[in-house]
Amino acid sequence: MRVLIINSGSSSIKFRLYDMEQETLLASGALERIGEVNTRSIYREYTASGNMQEQIAHSPVTDHTAGLKQIVAFLQSSDGSTHSRKSDSMKSLHAIGHRVVHGGETFQAPALIDEGVIEGIREMIPLAPLHNPANLAGIEAMRRLCPQLPQVAVFDTAFFRTLPPHAYRYALPNELYHRHHVRRYGFHGTSHQHAAGQAADYLQQPLKKLRLITLHLGNGASAAAIRDGICIDTSMGMTPLEGLIMGTRCGDLDPSVHFYLARTLGMEFDKIETLLNHDSGMKGLCGVNDMREVHRLASEGNEQARLAIDMYCYRISKYVGAYCVTLGGLDALVFTAGIGENDSFIRQSVCNRLSVLGILLDHKRNQSGASGAFDISSERSKVKVLVVPANEELEIAYQTVSAINR
Ligand code: ADP
Repeated sequence: MRVLIINSGSSSIKFRLYDMEQETLLASGALERIGEVNTRSIYREYTASGNMQEQIAHSPVTDHTAGLKQIVAFLQSSDGSTHSRKSDSMKSLHAIGHRVVHGGETFQAPALIDEGVIEGIREMIPLAPLHNPANLAGIEAMRRLCPQLPQVAVFDTAFFRTLPPHAYRYALPNELYHRHHVRRYGFHGTSHQHAAGQAADYLQQPLKKLRLITLHLGNGASAAAIRDGICIDTSMGMTPLEGLIMGTRCGDLDPSVHFYLARTLGMEFDKIETLLNHDSGMKGLCGVNDMREVHRLASEGNEQARLAIDMYCYRISKYVGAYCVTLGGLDALVFTAGIGENDSFIRQSVCNRLSVLGILLDHKRNQSGASGAFDISSERSKVKVLVVPANEELEIAYQTVSAINR
């Protein structure tokens, strides 16, 4: 069974083509800066012998429909090579899975896309104005291009459907929740779900018997508390702005800061939104959002970068401490995504703050840079500390297959 996964963002489209029988990746790629003159298109094809062939092009792609047409053309093309596993993949494709950021309270599981589902995703736009319109553009374009194929929407929020009201409600007047759906929803759900599943596999224990904290530390960052396979709290809120410090997002903030920015500094509403989403976090603190750059600055003695790293790790450790209480103990702390998987310094600095909870790292293991899932805790640690590779797309592919089988 072949499944194409589409992650359609506001100015980018990422895709992956999987053969689900062996869970092999056949092709992948991304179009970046859609709508600008210098759209960058990256296409990768993985051959049976384990090699990867990459093509990179720079030419304008006007909109999502044009971008997806190019992707379909790439998937249909063949260089005549017998090693190519993607050629003719559009003919043998079984389904398309789309990442959709906000499913609100309506979508608690992956949904086979029809007019009703499209309308439902549209109704969520006020809750995710930056994401859902772009997700919808991808869905609508693929429905026009491949009307014969079943398509599935997989929601970032669905994994958090199990949050209890004491975790998802804000202490605001009831009406704001009941009439206007103001509550915490959580995001990165597919990544947390995938990380939890991998941790259980690695530990060779049933997920249903584990207390886990998963830390998705990429450009965006979030934490989730998972007990017996059920998510009971997470750090992101009504939007992906709440919680941990991120590349460009501030995370937790006193709401009165907004009033101060508006009233005292005269900032307009849209400017505040841009400031908090795109110019804050690590970028706001030290000028760069890529963690590798932050480390470079810190190693050159830049005090702002050092403070930014300190704040970043401190915030994570506060959430881990709180979630240990939420979970009533902890079996494993799980790091995933770009920073979680690669940045041994951040892992060490987070865990140094957690020794009071019996969380102890093994320095050598932490720096081993092993591939796949690996254990970085010391023999004396009361809690396992694991690093697991993020793979949201593969999780979306699993969920797409299970939705169409249902
Ligand atoms: P997203 O998918 O959210 O865009 P990623 O999961 O790719 O993000 O993570 C991006 C972050 O991971 C960046 O801050 C980047 O600096 C960081 N990162 C990637 N590789 C490394 C590395 N080897 N060491 C430290 N940080 C890294």
